[in-house]
Amino acid sequence: MIPFIAKQDQLEQKLAEWRQLPESSLMKVEHLLSFTGHKVYAITISDFSIPREGKKAIYVTQPHAHEPGTTAGMVDVIEQLLTGRDLLGQSCTFDREKVLESTVITFNPIGNPFGRENAPELYYDGTKYSMNEFRCMIFGEDPENPGVQWKRVDIWDIREENAPNPLGIVYEPVDEFRYVEPNRHQLSSYFKLFYQMDAQYQYNYWLDLHQMMFGQQDAEQGYNCIIFMPYPDNVAPQHAEENSRWADDITKVWLERGFGAKPPITTPYTDIQAEYFRRNYAEINNRMSRITTEVVTNRTLFPVDVQVKAQSAAIETTLARLLDN
Ligand SMILES: [Zn+2]
Repeated sequence: MIPFIAKQDQLEQKLAEWRQLPESSLMKVEHLLSFTGHKVYAITISDFSIPREGKKAIYVTQPHAHEPGTTAGMVDVIEQLLTGRDLLGQSCTFDREKVLESTVITFNPIGNPFGRENAPELYYDGTKYSMNEFRCMIFGEDPENPGVQWKRVDIWDIREENAPNPLGIVYEPVDEFRYVEPNRHQLSSYFKLFYQMDAQYQYNYWLDLHQMMFGQQDAEQGYNCIIFMPYPDNVAPQHAEENSRWADDITKVWLERGFGAKPPITTPYTDIQAEYFRRNYAEINNRMSRITTEVVTNRTLFPVDVQVKAQSAAIETTLARLLDN
């Protein structure tokens, strides 16, 4: 199995190793401190002797504590960018020199370290959690109805709510009282770090990495990855077109590498969940291309390596296609 690096201490160990490499000048590490005192890292890779002008800048993130394969995939790509080899020792698939010369790539590998630290497992392979147990672990349990998943909201306040019990690892505390789901509220470290880094590099692309369980039927048919695109009315036309080409390129590579890719679709959320996305990403979707990966989790049908390698394939494709544009 590929090394699965998804916990904060594993990431920090890896950062210490990368800092010892002769190529360490290709990496800049910044962080913001979350309310809980965790370092939320932005790891930027490029040939910094070449100025930002004329380069494309890409932001790669993950907001969800329960989706550790996203972190593991990012670490696999950072390893390739710095050493030319992936975590299994295989040569990287893209023209590394050219990528370093012509792009700036920032990774936020753990968007909510507090949640990730409280995660019960390093990864989810489907052997321990039913779908309901998995969702209760993510969103917490309704204190009035144990065993029933609590509601999903952008922000909640312990002064106004009966807190879920247990809490649910998706949430990040942002002060003494309030908790947010990171990609649904601007008070999250995930959004704060994005704005901080975007002020510095003015990103052209944002690749947001996620995992989901996929339906039983889909999984049995071998589907294990898909790209979600923003709502068409929530994105500038030139970015909508580029999002679509980009999604197709990743999907093609997924299929070539033997993953079970479904064709890209518009983000399927409706109602209040859709409203959270419109509210938080409209301004961003109008000035940069942004798409979302969804790679399978918590299914025994697929080896855990799929969770890592489908994510790294999406990032690798994102870098490789920019060299041709
Ligand atoms: Zn997610």
